[in-house]
Amino acid sequence: MSTTKKLVLVGNGMAGIRTIEHILKLAPHAYEITVFGAEPHPNYNRIMLSSVLAGGTSIEDIVINDWSWYEDNGIQVYPGDPVIQIDANRKEVVSRNGVRATYDELIMATGSQAFMLPLPGADKEGVIGFRDIKDCETMMAASQTYRKAAVIGGGLLGLEAARGLLNLGMDVTVIHINGHLMDRNLDLPAGLMLQRELEEQGMKFLLNKHTEEITGKHRVKAIRFTDQTVLEADLVVMAVGIRPQVELARQAGLDVSRGVIVDDYMNTSIPGISAVGECAEHRGIAYGLVAPLYEQGMVLAKRLAGAATEGYEGSVTSTKLKVSGVDVFSAGQFKDSAGTRSIRIQDDVDGVYKKMVLKDGELIGAVLFGDTTDGASLFSLIKSGENISGREKEILLGVPSGSGSGSGPSIAERMASMPVDEIVCGCNGVTKAAIGDAVLNKGCNTLGAIKSCTKASASCGGCKPIVESLLVHYAGDAVGEQVKEGICGCTSYDRDEIVSQIKEMGLKTVKEVMNVLGWNEPEGCSKCRPSLNYYLGMIWPTEYEDERVSKFTNERYHANIQKDGTYSVIPRIYGGVTSPAELMKIAAVAEKYDVPMVKFTGGQRLDLLGVQKENLPKIWEELDMPSGFGYGKALRTVKTCVGNTFCRFGTQDSIEMGIRLEKKLDKMVAPAKVKLAVSGCPRNCAEATIKDLGVVAIDGAWELHVGGNGGVKVRAAELLCTVKTDAEVEEWTYAYLQYYRENARWNERTAAWIERVGLDHVKKALEDRDVRLALVERLELTLGRTVDPWKEIIDNEKLRKNFTPLADAQPTAH
Ligand SMILES: Cc1cc2nc3c(=O)[nH]c(=O)nc-3n(C[C@H](O)[C@H](O)[C@H](O)COP(=O)(O)OP(=O)(O)OC[C@H]3O[C@@H](n4cnc5c(N)ncnc54)[C@H](O)[C@@H]3O)c2cc1C
Ligand code: SF4
Repeated sequence: MSTTKKLVLVGNGMAGIRTIEHILKLAPHAYEITVFGAEPHPNYNRIMLSSVLAGGTSIEDIVINDWSWYEDNGIQVYPGDPVIQIDANRKEVVSRNGVRATYDELIMATGSQAFMLPLPGADKEGVIGFRDIKDCETMMAASQTYRKAAVIGGGLLGLEAARGLLNLGMDVTVIHINGHLMDRNLDLPAGLMLQRELEEQGMKFLLNKHTEEITGKHRVKAIRFTDQTVLEADLVVMAVGIRPQVELARQAGLDVSRGVIVDDYMNTSIPGISAVGECAEHRGIAYGLVAPLYEQGMVLAKRLAGAATEGYEGSVTSTKLKVSGVDVFSAGQFKDSAGTRSIRIQDDVDGVYKKMVLKDGELIGAVLFGDTTDGASLFSLIKSGENISGREKEILLGVPSGSGSGSGPSIAERMASMPVDEIVCGCNGVTKAAIGDAVLNKGCNTLGAIKSCTKASASCGGCKPIVESLLVHYAGDAVGEQVKEGICGCTSYDRDEIVSQIKEMGLKTVKEVMNVLGWNEPEGCSKCRPSLNYYLGMIWPTEYEDERVSKFTNERYHANIQKDGTYSVIPRIYGGVTSPAELMKIAAVAEKYDVPMVKFTGGQRLDLLGVQKENLPKIWEELDMPSGFGYGKALRTVKTCVGNTFCRFGTQDSIEMGIRLEKKLDKMVAPAKVKLAVSGCPRNCAEATIKDLGVVAIDGAWELHVGGNGGVKVRAAELLCTVKTDAEVEEWTYAYLQYYRENARWNERTAAWIERVGLDHVKKALEDRDVRLALVERLELTLGRTVDPWKEIIDNEKLRKNFTPLADAQPTAH
């Protein structure tokens, strides 16, 4: 007999999903789980948005659980579809898209919103908060067009935003209401040292400044302060604090103060409804950092799984500044006050500052600047409330009391003397003992392996140096030297090693690769699964069956998921050339399915935006056109100019060439998306020199340019070769693309690949005609096996079923 109860989670963020992860471990079959998320993305690590903004980390890299995790765990998820109403009497929630879901248990985990100062002009274009992927993307896009950025708020978040904008090439000024930076976490000396360091990095500061108005017509132009001075700015980021999202809870009748009020077991004032995370208020505190929220999540999961728990008693928090290249740590009560004593050292030469605040023999707060290695141990002393009388100097300076100064213990000595129950990773609550266990008993001999096994340093990354030191401490020198990061935390193998092992050992499935190469996580993660799927398909083009479960949503549903949870459909239109009949067909389908928007894409195709998932197969069927792969790591478009067919300047037939290339390559998958263009003369109207491969006609010949990019990081393509005939254009194009397919890393655009390996290397690799022809042959072998994904789904009842909504949570509309 099934005793499965219904659990609904409102909020697909860090605290809510962490709770679900625990429930799945403690009581895997206890609940049928439905998740509603206002954002269109799978659950991701919000902390890492700072790193995405600063560059070096992509949005895909910060996904914690990709869509296949929801599917594999039987979780019904509604991304981009916020809950707008809770009926506590009927135990039912209703979403914006009209989905109704009943529950036995409801978890509110709606997080917070960026607090926007209610200033005149705050609603102007270009004024944003820093909270989610969308804000991050807005900032990245703004940096392409605008130069001057202002960040209001000199706290942790503001400085991380400012550092990111600086990396994006903007001129950044941070405006802070107080006299020193991060005044909620740092005292004056540390705040001043931080300011000096950041000024050296190019950041500008306006301290003690009160903003009065944001000026501009539609878009922000400047900020005016109360002292009537003005700062020009065409992007303003407000990072002045957060507000728990409690409107929905309030409407449902829950007791709300600053956050939704919860007891020690995360119960709200209405039975059957719990709250966790930043939206919850426990003993008067609504926390704004991950570690306490994860502790709350554990307690809630235990209660819902029927396991014993002592309840949540509140947390002491600590803070680290990420991405600025400056080490800052702060915890507890760091300011001096009546009854406290403090010890501090300030070394302006090396830029190091350390301070401990003591009360009645106990450590109650600490600030570290420039060297934060002791952060974890100080934090653990603050939390334990241990009496450290007589050991204060030893703890801060590393020298026994009364022995004068000294160089202090080495890192190795510090690691050895660290208590085993000390929390090393605050975000995930991982102790020194857990890391020791991973290294000594579970064979984790790399940082990546420890990360995936224990989650230590998998969030903000602030504890990475200590985790690495502990790895050396436990694994010894020999293994410590081999420390190397693999393609993700699940393996220490890099891309080239994996590819050669697959070839040498004849590995044929994702699972087989993971088993044979000893993956730390048996199921892999959102980073390695799609990459293995790609490598296997590239190596075994005729045998390998593409694994749907190893792909992200867009490629699983063969359409682009949009921010409101609907999809966009782009049929293939070769070379951007269509006909009245084809246009009428597209128009008829758009009308029939009430497609809210039809738009030309940047690549000269038509995009039907706002399509419901269940309508996708019907639309594809009625369009009766191939997929334009507008969503995939695949050939997107071959953009063409008018060429000599109509244009007065054209020397060659760019349309014919574009269509020919696109017809050949239209189902080609690749490590990343690939865009081509063909221009009929050097005027280059198809903008071929910012494409992955651009063909430009010159008098009596064609030039092939490669490695261009018009996206976030604009890069002009470089000249690969000049050829005379159309056949040579094809030969070089296909050989080049196959060489890229075979040698680039998963997710690496051609621009990044060329920068990494160098154009000369590629030129040399392709100079021999036999090599080129062999590459073309291998590409043709792959292309010969490809099928159109839309057609495949239309013709297969089982695949088609994936698009039908589940019966128990049906949309009310139609
Ligand atoms: C740039 C940045 C850097 C940060 N750095 C750190 C750091 O270094 N260390 C640290 O500890 N913390 C950091 N934080 C804070 C940390 O990210 C948050 O504390 C944490 O994400 C809160 O988790 P949560 O689940 O409560 O909320 P969230 O992760 O915000 O999740 C809540 C989700 O609920 C959704 N939602 C809201 N209303 C509804 C609705 N009605 N229906 C459906 N869904 C809804 C929201 O869209 C959101 O996706 C940082 C935050 C940001 C923005
Ligand atoms: S690139 Fe040359 S041929 Fe093509 S449209 Fe422009 S001017 Fe005409």
